[in-house]
Parts: sequence; structure tokens; C-alpha cells
Amino acid sequence: MTAQRLDGRKLAKKIEHDLAPKVATLASKIGRPPRLVVVLVGDVAASASYVKSKAAAAKRVGITADVFSIPESTTTAELVSTVEAIGRDEHGPVDGILVQLPLPDHVDARAVLDAVPPDRDVDGFHAVNAGLLSQGRAHFIPCTAAGVQRMLLDAGVETRGKHAVIVGRSDIVGKPLALLLASRGPGGDATVSVCHSHTSNLKEVTQQADILIAAVGIPQLITADMVKPGAVVVDVGINRVLDGNTSRLVGDVDYDPVSTIAEAISPVPGGVGPLTVAILLENTFSAAKERQNLSQTAE
Ligand code: NDP
Repeated sequence: MTAQRLDGRKLAKKIEHDLAPKVATLASKIGRPPRLVVVLVGDVAASASYVKSKAAAAKRVGITADVFSIPESTTTAELVSTVEAIGRDEHGPVDGILVQLPLPDHVDARAVLDAVPPDRDVDGFHAVNAGLLSQGRAHFIPCTAAGVQRMLLDAGVETRGKHAVIVGRSDIVGKPLALLLASRGPGGDATVSVCHSHTSNLKEVTQQADILIAAVGIPQLITADMVKPGAVVVDVGINRVLDGNTSRLVGDVDYDPVSTIAEAISPVPGGVGPLTVAILLENTFSAAKERQNLSQTAE
């Protein structure tokens, strides 16, 4: 069996294609394009490259993306006050605010993320948005988790009644994804197991998965013997490994052997990554639209 390839790039293109005319209509109503501000701290090459691709994607659909580059030496208090100032529109009207992670170790990331106004928290990392998601009344959903669910829905993968196993329990991927897959309705209603670094006998759990999602950050942790034949495998991991003198990106799943037994599998690159960006654009559009609706109601 050769697995169906879950092509995130193709789906992201479709999402952009559908979004661009809606953005144009909204822009003409509010008299400016929707605007995303990305706060980038320090000069980590991977973060800079993610920010670049987010800004390029925003431009493709007609969203303005401005990057605020902040020196690595910034303090928590300075960063919180910068984010608060952006949230008060002191640097021009803003519909979506994103703080690129990871932040330097000396910065309290939680304090900074909680400084983003929840109604412009297009990454869905604010405590209010995390709480709303956990109560089944999601507002902004973290982009990667939403991207995985969208990928499954688009491929027609039934989640209802299935056993989904997520390896990884981070606040930005594993936890919100567990909530989404266990939520009521399409793309949900799964029975969800969440694994982490203290899970004993990981293989025994992953072998039971109808849908297996790896969000760990360890290259090729998930080997073919850990996968049930016929399972759907989604690889969130992005790991840079050295191949001789060059480096390349690999996921958390050992792609080639796993693709011989899985029913469907997402590649790295070209899987979840592009969807994360596409959902960010959708969230920014929604934030701008909500703002416009609110200002109309106030008039
Ligand atoms: P974190 O480091 O925050 O979380 C990793 C999780 O994996 C933790 O819950 C950790 O457990 C668990 N873990 C670590 N080692 C093991 C192990 N041996 N067995 C089982 N579980 C283990 O990572 P993120 O969630 O931020 O990211 C995960 C991966 O996804 C990374 O490669 C990242 O680059 C990628 N990523 C990709 C995105 C995309 O758009 N495609 C977006 C965001 C992330 P514990 O909690 O016990 O420490």
C-alpha cells in the first residue's frame, strides 16, 4: 500500500484563493487592507524565515503584514508594553497581532502573549482564547491545530468515533488539537489520547491510533513499527537535520517506511506548515471583519 499524500501546500493555495476576494471586499468597506503586525524578537534564523513566509502569504491575499523587529536584549516589561501599545493602535490600526515564538529564555512568554488583546489574538494563544476553545465556544483557534483539523476534513478523514493519538502536549499544538478532535461535530467526536515525554511504552499507544499526529520535535521519532496499518498519519514536526554539508527539513515521522503502511500521510515540508500560515490569514481576516462589524454597530 502506498499512502495518500496529504498535500498541505495545495490546500493552503485553495484557502488563499478563496480568501483573497473576501479580503478585497472587506478592504473596500473599511478603506484599507486588513493589517497584521508580527512581533519578532532577536535574530533566530528559523523564526525570521517563518515570519518572512507569513508576510509573503499575507501579501498574496491582500493583507498588510508589518514586522516589528525587537532586539534580543529586550525585557519582559518592555515587550509587554510594546505589544500593549500595538494593541492600542498607537502604531496605526491593527486587526491581528502575532508574537513569533520562541521568545528568548529571559522573557516571560506567557506575560507577553497575554498582553495581546484577545480580539486580535490571531494565533489563539491568549488565555481567554484557550479557555473559550476548551469550553467548546472557540474564537481564535491556534493555527497549527486548526490546520491539522482542516487537513483531515479536506481529505474526508472521518474522526467521529476514531481513536486519535497525539504525541506532544504543548499549549500551541498538542493541547488545542486534542480539544478540537474531542469537540462535538465535524472534524471532532474522536476519542483522544495525548502522549508526552513521560508516556510509558509510547509504541503501545501509537499502535492503537486510527489517526496519529506527531508534534514532538524529534526527527523521525515515529517509526513504521509504531503505526497501525491503514492509519492516517499527520506530521507536525519541523526539524532541521544535517545531510553531509547541507541541511534539510524532516518531520517527526519516518516518512518512507510509514507511507508503505499508512492509508494517508502528510509530508514535511509541504504538509501542516503551509496550512498553519493559511489559517493565520483566515484568522486575521476574521479579526478585521469582527472589528468592522463592531464599528458598524457602534455607528
Ligand atoms: P514543544 O517542545 O513545546 O512540545 C513537544 C512535546 O513533545 C512536549 O509535550 C513533550 O513532552 C513531547 N515529547 C518530547 N519528547 C518526547 C518523546 N520522546 N516521546 C513523546 N513525547 C515527547 O514543541 P511544539 O509543540 O512547539 O512543536 C512540536 C514540533 O512541531 C516541533 O518540531 C515544531 O518545530 C513543530 N511545529 C510545527 C508547526 C507547523 O506549522 N508545522 C508549528 C508549530 C510547531 P513534555 O510535555 O513531557 O515535555
